[in-house]
Amino acid sequence: MAAQRMKSDSVYLDYNASAPLRASVLARLRAWPANPANPSSVHSFGRKARGEVEDSRAQVAALVGVDPTQVFFNSGATEANNTVLSAFAGQRVLVSAIEHPSILEAAPQAERIPVTPEGLVDLSAIESLIKTGAPPALICLMWVNNETGVIQPVLDVLTLARRCNAALHIDAAQAAGRIPIDMGLLGADFLTLSAHKIGGLPGSGALVLGSCQPPPVFLRGGGQEKQARAGTENVPGIVAFGVAACEAREGLGSYARLSVLRDSLESRVEAVTPSVRFFGRAAPRVANTSLLALPGLTSQTALMHMDLEGVAISSGSACSSGVVKPSPTLRAMGISEDLASCALRVSMGWDTTGEDIDRFLTAFETMTNRLKTRGARAI
Ligand code: PMP
Repeated sequence: MAAQRMKSDSVYLDYNASAPLRASVLARLRAWPANPANPSSVHSFGRKARGEVEDSRAQVAALVGVDPTQVFFNSGATEANNTVLSAFAGQRVLVSAIEHPSILEAAPQAERIPVTPEGLVDLSAIESLIKTGAPPALICLMWVNNETGVIQPVLDVLTLARRCNAALHIDAAQAAGRIPIDMGLLGADFLTLSAHKIGGLPGSGALVLGSCQPPPVFLRGGGQEKQARAGTENVPGIVAFGVAACEAREGLGSYARLSVLRDSLESRVEAVTPSVRFFGRAAPRVANTSLLALPGLTSQTALMHMDLEGVAISSGSACSSGVVKPSPTLRAMGISEDLASCALRVSMGWDTTGEDIDRFLTAFETMTNRLKTRGARAI
């Protein structure tokens, strides 16, 4: 219901922050029985819940091409990232400078790998870091950046990691459902997933382990998830994750159509405001994301105007406390603080239509016209 209401009243273009629940997920949750559902209970209710969890494990495993035994459910990507980094505490760790805060703040001592002006991790910088000092124990890289949508060269980084016997951790929270993932082919050691980025519930996700990898233990005090993640399983969240994973996998073939909408949005924005800057546009990007800035118009002002026009987008930067800070990703790409504080992220999803993009453009033009009549310098 919420997703449908949202759709008719306003245009939601903030899928990278959180995607709406898929209709199939909503239907499954609406039919959720009030029965108790502790999968560790031996009675019939418990066994049913266990069956649901294991079905979902197989569905999530299929999304990323692993055996279900390699999937460990948890509360989401933040927990998965913290879990991996806590297992490498005290060891040499390299992380890209554009990682999510759940990597950067969980390992403040980790050495930062710079990125190119287009937002791609700098492979030669990794080589230099590897040659300097003791070999790193772990390298962390997100597969797709949440702000720019830039797809990182994970296979090249895997080669570098293998050369120095470092483990490789890939945060795939923004890659799942957007590009095909075959963890078997990739051969990484750890992979992070988040359910609400693919149309499941927030507060649910998984850490996927490479084959032969022992699970790092983060929460202790129970035998759940093979003793690797204590706490009664979030069965509705896990089931929703499984349904969403199935649909995300089925939708992969048609996901690329979003790049047509994205490219049309970018060229039409450019026609209205030739001063616009796009970020990561020359790099390989996922189909759904556009990060742009109108120099002189701060994200906060633009977001308020667009929201008044019924269009939900984001600044693409750290805004967890309601305070918009200039994007650390853009700063790492060498973008000035002034321009970074003007960033606007448009992120579409599986049910975004051409009409949504038209409505975005109408709102965008209304905003820029209004600001022009007020004498805004930059528009
Ligand atoms: N990693 C990336 C790349 C993300 O985009 C996010 C969510 N913004 C997270 C981790 C954290 O995800 P969750 O909300 O599931 O903790």
